Parts: sequence; C-alpha cells; structure tokens
Amino acid sequence: MNSADNFTASEPEDQDIAAAAHHAIPYLDGNAAAGALSEVFRIDIIAALGRCRHCGSVRYFGAAMVFTDAPGLVVRCRDCQGVLLRVVETPTRYWLDLSGLSYLEIDREE
Ligand SMILES: [Zn+2]
Repeated sequence: MNSADNFTASEPEDQDIAAAAHHAIPYLDGNAAAGALSEVFRIDIIAALGRCRHCGSVRYFGAAMVFTDAPGLVVRCRDCQGVLLRVVETPTRYWLDLSGLSYLEIDREE
C-alpha cells in the first residue's frame, strides 16, 4: 500500500492530501482558526462565505476543515479537501496564504 493508487476523489494540487485516503488526519471545524484569524482580519471570518478556488464550492468559513497538526493552521475545503488558506504565526509576524480562496464575502453588519 503506497502512493495514491486508491485515491479516487478529484485530485487537489497539494499531493499531501493523498495520504488522507489511507490515514485519516484529525481535523477541527473552522472555529478552530478563529483565534489566529481574528488577529489578522479583525472581522468575523467564521460567518464569511468563501469560494473554493479548486472546486467552486461556496460555504461559510466555519464549515471548513482545519488541520492543526502542521506548521501553522491549514484550512481545507469540506467538499474537495483542497487547501483554502494557510496561516503561520511567529513571535513577530503572521504568514497568510489565501491562494485557495477565489473570494471571501464578508457581512458588514455586526
Ligand atoms: Zn473545494
């Protein structure tokens, strides 16, 4: 049992997800990313709608899959498991990769 021989879902560009077909990686929902992301965005990102660049799915950010067993947080699409967002915190900086999101729709009403 090696490589991604049995991986049948549409393949995201991140090859590490292939491992998930054989070894379930524990994850949390989008609320797990709220602390770090509220520092960056200063908005309620959990209630924001995000469009996955990989499959086009539009969901509330809170419905995403958050993997914390990585350098930083990795947020994946619940539908295709493509990477939506990565955030890494250092003592002095945040490194934020939003390249997996086509857009975020944020409610201006609080
Ligand atoms: Zn997707």
